[in-house]
Amino acid sequence: MEHPENDSKYIGLTVNGGVAQPPVVNPYMHKRPRRKPLPPASELVEGILKGDVTTLSRAVTLVESLAPDHYAVAQEVIEKCLPHSGNSRRIGITGVPGAGKSTSIDVFGLHVLKQGGKLAVLAIDPSSERTKGSILGDKTRMEKLSVHPDAFIRPSPSAGSLGGVARKTRETIVLCEAAGYNNIFVETVGVGQSETAVHSMVDFFLLIQIAGAGDELQGIKRGIMEMADGIVINKADGDNIGPAQLAQAQYRSALHLFPPTTSGWMPEVLTYSGYYELGIPEVWEMIDRYFDFVRGNGYFDEKRRQQARWWMFETIDEQLRKHFYDNPDVKARLDAAEAEVLANRRSSFAAAADVLGYYFNR
Ligand code: GDP
Repeated sequence: MEHPENDSKYIGLTVNGGVAQPPVVNPYMHKRPRRKPLPPASELVEGILKGDVTTLSRAVTLVESLAPDHYAVAQEVIEKCLPHSGNSRRIGITGVPGAGKSTSIDVFGLHVLKQGGKLAVLAIDPSSERTKGSILGDKTRMEKLSVHPDAFIRPSPSAGSLGGVARKTRETIVLCEAAGYNNIFVETVGVGQSETAVHSMVDFFLLIQIAGAGDELQGIKRGIMEMADGIVINKADGDNIGPAQLAQAQYRSALHLFPPTTSGWMPEVLTYSGYYELGIPEVWEMIDRYFDFVRGNGYFDEKRRQQARWWMFETIDEQLRKHFYDNPDVKARLDAAEAEVLANRRSSFAAAADVLGYYFNR
């Protein structure tokens, strides 16, 4: 068959003339505001107090935003929501990736919601960037909860300093509580960085473990175990029931070696299966017992007071650091001082004193 390219009229390398471009793609484009105008704080607060989820999400976005005008509105909203917050159980949930946190949160969450009320699931994961897909709090990971009308799931604020990410989650708790969420779960990856921050914002700290993996494998540091109010061994199903019970006994005896907790509560160790939904009410009964215990002995309120104090100092620390490191002159001096120290020309202390001296005497 004759191929069209063999025809003498065919010129393979001709460039088509193309279509003339209109001067602007959308002539009305410039008339549109570039972003939605910021609603006044009072309007947001009103929506939040009504339990309106869209307003709540919007306010959380402002809390997470880095724009200074957003920050100001967000702080005003938080202040106004504060008197309406506090009426919730704040539960921290940690465990290494694969321990079954999302599977468990899904079933724990449904269990809690059966008793009424509303549940917010928040996360702290300083390593994640939202654009790359957050490891934690991803809606698709909690299939049942994510479609439940009384559950609000929010991924971790995007990457930043741990202090910054944690503070945003702490502030989001206030907004959720004001919107009527009386159960708050804060999820974090149990690899040892974010646990202190989570511990400082929750009433009960639940550590999810799995049998068979050594402590090193699970990345669980002694410090995390010491923070736990409850250790639960997941995947106690099928052939794994025996190993799970063995792990339970080991954790129980390990806990006896720890100093007594300030609350006076003796952390409990239970086994369960998130996937097969075995032992879920028992885990929840333990948590109920804890709340009865600490409400009875006054520790609940005391801990929240101490946490509020901790956050004040934490915020001051964060802002001071930011103010110092963001200063362009400080940055330039730091670079020079760093080079001097690395070249062994100045001592670390003298170099630090120089930069700080400049900062304090600006
Ligand atoms: P996460 O990384 O801690 O959030 O863990 P996931 O919830 O994603 O669970 C990790 C894997 O363990 C998944 O393949 C789950 O299906 C599985 N898994 C979670 N819970 C259980 C359980 O109770 N029993 C068994 N056999 N597998 C489970």
